[in-house]
Amino acid sequence: MTNSSEPWFQQGLRFKCTGCGKCCTGTPGYVWLLEEEIDKMAEFLQVSKEDFVKKYTRQVGNRLALKEVKRNQDYDCTFLKGKQCTIYGVRPKQCQTFPWWQEHLSSKEAWEEAAQGCEGINHPEAPLISIGEIKDKML
Ligand code: SF4
Repeated sequence: MTNSSEPWFQQGLRFKCTGCGKCCTGTPGYVWLLEEEIDKMAEFLQVSKEDFVKKYTRQVGNRLALKEVKRNQDYDCTFLKGKQCTIYGVRPKQCQTFPWWQEHLSSKEAWEEAAQGCEGINHPEAPLISIGEIKDKML
C-alpha cells in the first residue's frame, strides 16, 4: 500500500535517453541560463562572454535563455546539429536534468504528457530509476 505522503513515483520510473534529439527541438521553449553556465559555454567555444550572449542568447524579462532557430515547423536549440548537442559537455543544468523536472514529476499525468515528446520516458528497455536517484537528479 502507498503512503499518501509518498511521491507518486515511489516505485521509481523508467527512462533511457535514445539520443533522438526531440527534447532540443519542437515547440518553442526556454533553456534558462545561469551566469556560471554562460561562462563555461563561452570558454568551451573560445568566445568572449559578451559575444556569447550576443550570438547565442535572448533576453526574456530579466533572464537570459538560449536562442532557438526555426527550421520548418520546429524550433531547434541554437546548439543542436542534426540530433546532436554541440556543447554537450557544458550544456546547462536544465538540459542535464531533463526529464527530471518538477513540472514532469508533479503527477503521473504530467509524466505521461512529457512522455509524448520523449521516447526515452517509459522506454521498454529503460532501467528503473529509483526514487533516490530521481531525487538526486531533480531540478
Ligand atoms: S527526447 Fe528523450 S530520448 Fe530523445 S534525446 Fe531527449 S531525452 Fe533523449
